[in-house]
Amino acid sequence: MPVKVAMVSLASCWGCYQSLLDNHEALLDILPELDILFWHVVTDFKYKDLEGYKDGSIDVGIVEGVCRTEEDVHILKTLRKKCKTLISLGSCSTYGGIYGLLNLSTMDEALKRKFTEAESLEEPSIPDEDVPKMLDFLIPNRKIVNFEIFLPGCPVTSQNIKDALVGLLKGELPPPPNRTLCDECPREKSEVITIKQLKRDYEGIPDPKKCLLEQGYICMGPATREGCGALCTKAGMPCRGCYGPGPNVIDQGAKMISALGSIVDYEAISPEELVEKVGDVAGTFYNFFLPSGIVSKTVRKAK
Ligand code: SF4
Ligand code: SF4
Repeated sequence: MPVKVAMVSLASCWGCYQSLLDNHEALLDILPELDILFWHVVTDFKYKDLEGYKDGSIDVGIVEGVCRTEEDVHILKTLRKKCKTLISLGSCSTYGGIYGLLNLSTMDEALKRKFTEAESLEEPSIPDEDVPKMLDFLIPNRKIVNFEIFLPGCPVTSQNIKDALVGLLKGELPPPPNRTLCDECPREKSEVITIKQLKRDYEGIPDPKKCLLEQGYICMGPATREGCGALCTKAGMPCRGCYGPGPNVIDQGAKMISALGSIVDYEAISPEELVEKVGDVAGTFYNFFLPSGIVSKTVRKAK
């Protein structure tokens, strides 16, 4: 009997479902095994269709995106009730993702910026009719409902999705990763690293074989879990941390700041220069993880 599946998109860019579709002909082996009961971003399902299923009657639910509105929370909770197994697809759903950087602003500030201040606006106004109520701050999905399986990544790779679906169908999921990206990365690393200079991604041409962090590029590999196949570092780009924290790491950004702090030669580069060179601290170290971090949002004192 085909496995009954329901898929939802909350606040997301649709990149993770795109990655699922990027499996192309490999889907021909998987799709006949699935009975897709709900996928509202692909065809004309309504929320009442999902609400109409009996609790626990759907085998697998897949969640892309994070809750920005009360409607998102309702859909997430409804899916949890209907499904036996829930998969978190991508870093938005797993950690809060890039959308989580909105936690650096209040919702009022964010709405004002988007709808009244953005340079491209022709008729600035904040919509207030027929729109769901926005949440004040973004909290990770797993603090709202439980998940059985997490597939982080921005986007999660097609291979990871295929492995998880095939594993589910066979009843033997791939083991969870237990190493950092540095363990998966083929670049040559020294026993002891000292950085005398920090570089942005666009500065210079990196040595094609040596560890990027050793060359001064901020590569999040030491604080990030394996799983992506080191796609970026193999292509000469430093890891941005989209797979989230490595094993036993509570706060990905704090881990990377600590790692960086311990390998910088402070006679060659001062702490002030380091901070200036990094520039956007949250965007660099917490790009995908802010709402899951120890400090998950901007806190302001009441005036
Ligand atoms: S994790 Fe990345 S690719 Fe996936 S929905 Fe979020 S922003 Fe898009
Ligand atoms: S720091 Fe980056 S480039 Fe260096 S080994 Fe780790 S993942 Fe690879």
